[in-house]
Amino acid sequence: EKEYKIVILGAGGVGKSSITLQLVQNKFIEDQYDPTIEDIFKKELFFQNNYYSLNILDTAGQSEYSQLRENYMKLGQGFLFVYSIESRTSFLELLSHYQQLLRAKNFPQEKSEKALNQSIPIVVVGNKSDLDYEREVTYDEGINIAKNFGDFPFLETSAKSNINILKAFEILIKQIDSN
Ligand code: GDP
Ligand code: MG
Repeated sequence: EKEYKIVILGAGGVGKSSITLQLVQNKFIEDQYDPTIEDIFKKELFFQNNYYSLNILDTAGQSEYSQLRENYMKLGQGFLFVYSIESRTSFLELLSHYQQLLRAKNFPQEKSEKALNQSIPIVVVGNKSDLDYEREVTYDEGINIAKNFGDFPFLETSAKSNINILKAFEILIKQIDSN
């Protein structure tokens, strides 16, 4: 069994807790999950002939530098970067989360993105794909931001309709395995 520490990052309200809840408990709640709760969830997965035990940190709130998150960012082995396709603001916020991660990993800012890609497994996710009629960010923009950060995989998900949730974590596991 492989044990991986995973961190979910993104603006408030994009669906970080909903994605985690859908993966861990197969349920979706319409109400916003308490946005201030930052907690670790456990998920066991059997995937490609391996058992995986995921410890997932669902980050929250404004306390960008909470000790828990700081430690988890340092020790984290895989990162899910989440925005919502119906919020351009959340899309633009990805950059600051990315920079926060670089700092936490003590990654030299001048190093090329390619080099970063080789050292930190990341998957970029555009959530709330069921809200296509409220879309503010195109699919191509999602692909491009993931590419510009460092050739990371990208996919759109819906925690509500349970679309691509498991797949996002499986792709992240693949990234970690090949790291
Ligand atoms: P967080 O602050 O990033 O943890 O966001 P939450 O998981 O608390 O979700 C914020 C709000 O968006 C809640 O009302 C959720 O029900 C809703 N939400 C989350 N994911 C989806 C989704 O895929 N589709 C839709 N339509 N709503 C979602
Ligand atoms: Mg939350």
